[in-house]
Amino acid sequence: MSCIFCQIANGDIFTEFLYEDDKVVAFRDLHPQAPTHVLIVPKKHIESMVELNAKDIPLTGHMLDVARRLAEKEGIAQGGYRLVINTGPDGGQVVMHLHLHLIGGRVLPEQMK
Ligand code: 5GP
Ligand code: ZN
Repeated sequence: MSCIFCQIANGDIFTEFLYEDDKVVAFRDLHPQAPTHVLIVPKKHIESMVELNAKDIPLTGHMLDVARRLAEKEGIAQGGYRLVINTGPDGGQVVMHLHLHLIGGRVLPEQMK
């Protein structure tokens, strides 16, 4: 299995999880762009938003809910934060396993990346 996020999610590469359940894991980005930079990653290998369809709405809704709760836990909900899903080459996606960035803890520039 060569997908780095599959390896992290299944424990082959040790990474401390901020959150885990049967559907998703969340861990800190290796190269944080802000004081809080967390990735919310489905355990199931899905390449990107492009692969999703209506049956995945509960999963994507869950990812958003986990991000919302982690933002509270990180203490950034009040100040605000940014949720990002880079998609495909034009969207700047580097890791081809769907993931939601939760970024906050400082005033973010109007545009990132
Ligand atoms: P993308 O551009 O695909 O949306 O972002 C991928 C993100 O994954 C990048 O912000 C990068 O720093 C992060 N990343 C890549 N490899 C690893 C890793 O092995 N561990 C962690 N924690 N983050 C990673
Ligand atoms: Zn994967």
